[in-house]
Amino acid sequence: MTTFNELKLADWLAPAIADLGFEEPTAVQARVIPLVLKGKSVVGQSQTGSGKTHAFLLPLFSQLDPAKQEVQVVITTPSRELAAQIAAAAKQLNRFAPTPFTIHNYVGGTDKQHQLDQLARKQPQVVIGTPGRILDLIKAQALDIHLATRFVIDEADMTLDMGFLTQVDQIAAHFPSDLQMLVFSATIPQGLRPFLKKYLENPVVEEIPTETVINPNVENWLLSTKGRDKNELVYQLLTMGEPFLALVFANTRERAEQLHAYLLNQGLKVALVHGGLAPRERRKTMRQIRSMDYQYIVATDLAARGIDLTGVSLVINDDIPTDLEYFVHRVGRTGRGKLKGTAITLYAPAEDDLVAKLEERGIKFIPKTIKNGRVETTYDRNRRQHYRRRKAALDPSLKGFVKKTKKTVKPGYKKRIKSKIKEDERQKAKQELRHKQRKAKRARQKQHRLERARQKNGR
Ligand code: AMP
Repeated sequence: MTTFNELKLADWLAPAIADLGFEEPTAVQARVIPLVLKGKSVVGQSQTGSGKTHAFLLPLFSQLDPAKQEVQVVITTPSRELAAQIAAAAKQLNRFAPTPFTIHNYVGGTDKQHQLDQLARKQPQVVIGTPGRILDLIKAQALDIHLATRFVIDEADMTLDMGFLTQVDQIAAHFPSDLQMLVFSATIPQGLRPFLKKYLENPVVEEIPTETVINPNVENWLLSTKGRDKNELVYQLLTMGEPFLALVFANTRERAEQLHAYLLNQGLKVALVHGGLAPRERRKTMRQIRSMDYQYIVATDLAARGIDLTGVSLVINDDIPTDLEYFVHRVGRTGRGKLKGTAITLYAPAEDDLVAKLEERGIKFIPKTIKNGRVETTYDRNRRQHYRRRKAALDPSLKGFVKKTKKTVKPGYKKRIKSKIKEDERQKAKQELRHKQRKAKRARQKQHRLERARQKNGR
């Protein structure tokens, strides 16, 4: 296991990493950081949630030159929200820099004139943004990237899907020829290959396991909705503690509206953000959210992409998102910086497979239940499945025995059941071995008979 120490990052980054609460590098960080430090171009096939943002930010910041007041690094990402997330992560590191670097975030929908004026005075050292706005600023001859030697294309497949690759290509043409390019993408679709071929001679292509990490500041709870009214449950969870700001994600607009209406009816002051709202209405709600008029927000995924909120202490997934990538984005809304956060995912028995898929990607849940109005840790769902499987395989004579364990039992009873089960397993193993031995014996006898018959005929 690699440690952050072994990665040989600049000394000033150690307290920044400690501040984030990261104890050891994730798989993508352990593989990519040394390559970036060596100046290699990398195509990293990795998912959101793998820790890839820090896989490029840490080595790039480690090598920034505070003395050069020029653009040294450009990072593009397809959505404003992702750009805001990367910028926030970069600013967190920057707080620890001996001489803080100038980091600018350029995305659509922001004040371009202000950016032009600012650029006329001073060039930033790190540029983070969406391809369209970055290209606009370059074309306006305001942003000068001709000295930058490092270019990161984050979420390259999404960039291609959203039709931004041409703009990225045009940006790439403005860099000097000895460019170090870092491309991160969950998949490497055909459409991306000509671009990669054009700019990368001998890139190191790293396929990183899709292991997902959730920020250590986030408690990731899983709660079954079996036999419960979901509206009531969400209300109960929202009002149990005192969340600073709670964000409830619904899978559809209809569900968001329904939940919003229910919560309003219960007397909560809740904001509703979904893609169906008129832009004016949405802007107004966003303003009110920012000025802390609301403590609760119900939102859909797409609507939430464009909003960057600080201080979210609780995220509730009313349903498991249809696109599992969204799960990481949703949960990532809380536990930002050093703030602690809780994410509660509600699931119905029919969604068990989706939970299992998230777990396969490395997401670890703490199973919870509500008892007497309080949230308590409960047993793992899988444990119950193991138990079921085991029970089904048990000898029928033992089934009654196991059932009885649910009742109050005499001391030593559980032990006896356990030993009975073990004994049953031992007997079964023995039987199986005997069966195998008999089968082998029969095969040997058959072979023997055949040989004898052959010899007889031969004579
Ligand atoms: P990303 O894939 O970059 O979006 O990161 C997903 C989440 O993992 C973010 O919340 C990060 O703060 C967190 N993270 C990144 N690196 C580490 C690490 N080495 N240890 C623990 N958490 C991490």
